[in-house]
Amino acid sequence: MPDDVLSIVLDNCFDGVYRVDRNRRIISWNPAAEAITGYSAADVIGHSCADNILQHVDHDGYSACSTDCPLADALATGCTGERRLYLHHKLGHRLPVMLRCAPLRDERGAVVGAVEIFRSLAAEDIRLREIERLKEATMTDHLTGIGNRRYGDIVLSNLFENDWTRPTAIGVALIDIDNFKLVNDTYGHSTGDRLLQLVAKTLRTTLRPRDVLSRWGGEEFLAALPAITADALEAVLERMRALVESTWIDCEDGRLQVTISVGAVLVYASEPLETVLGRADALLYRAKEAGRNRVVVDAGAVSPKVAAPIPPAAQRSVPNR
Ligand code: GH3
Ligand code: MG
Ligand code: MG
Repeated sequence: MPDDVLSIVLDNCFDGVYRVDRNRRIISWNPAAEAITGYSAADVIGHSCADNILQHVDHDGYSACSTDCPLADALATGCTGERRLYLHHKLGHRLPVMLRCAPLRDERGAVVGAVEIFRSLAAEDIRLREIERLKEATMTDHLTGIGNRRYGDIVLSNLFENDWTRPTAIGVALIDIDNFKLVNDTYGHSTGDRLLQLVAKTLRTTLRPRDVLSRWGGEEFLAALPAITADALEAVLERMRALVESTWIDCEDGRLQVTISVGAVLVYASEPLETVLGRADALLYRAKEAGRNRVVVDAGAVSPKVAAPIPPAAQRSVPNR
């Protein structure tokens, strides 16, 4: 590329670009570098980048200039490198940038300098944080703090649409609090709310970190457990049932407990999500019909099983005063 074309590109591109000699002395500084950092060419040309003008630091705050300089790396190794670092802006604040450093060579191939090209990530960071904040606001159930129905819908659809090459099954469970209307009618809505929070927390702690839990309806939760076996699914759900059963809140009326019923399916192959949810719902209905406070699992063609019924003494679906 002729020199005049190169200088037009450097003068007009959106990325900051500067060049150093073998001693890391800055010998060129384009307008975008000034716009991004606040330093003009006059401020920096002739200074070594090791003078710490831009003071690159990593996300832990460690200085990259003295010990881990990407330009020094390009000069020493002759290799191109890429890093995400923070620059010091002339006004004092830190600026997230993505940068690439490449060696410059003479006709004989000897490294005679290096170039750093950098792009501000500040706007992108703000956008990403805003998206995260909105996502959290629109996908969190405010009573229980877990994901809401919309969150469950999205995560479940992703699991089912994108993951059919997987060798393992996904467990899908519908979990419903037993006789919750009676709880509300007897103890009041705000006590009901406290019990809902307690159940959500207990379910979350029983699941593995990668499992998805959402509040699917009023007193109903949906759990998706990717990469799980029939035995593990039954064990997790049974533990969930037992933990909820043995958990309580203290209130004026004494100790209050609720139980849950669970209908779950293990899905091995491509099956529309609606069918999966329909099957789980039918099993939940069976659990209710069979007396509540129980788990009914359809482990599919590989090992069809229904969890053993809970002995009547353990069924305490209506809280005692
Ligand atoms: P079953 O064992 O058959 O599920 O009986 P149930 O009483 O739990 O089921 P039903 O569908 O008759 O009642 C659900 C109740 O859940 C009714 C509703 O007032 C209560 N509920 C739904 N959302 C909330 C909530 O956010 N807070 C409180 N406190 N109660 C809720
Ligand atoms: Mg219920
Ligand atoms: Mg319900």
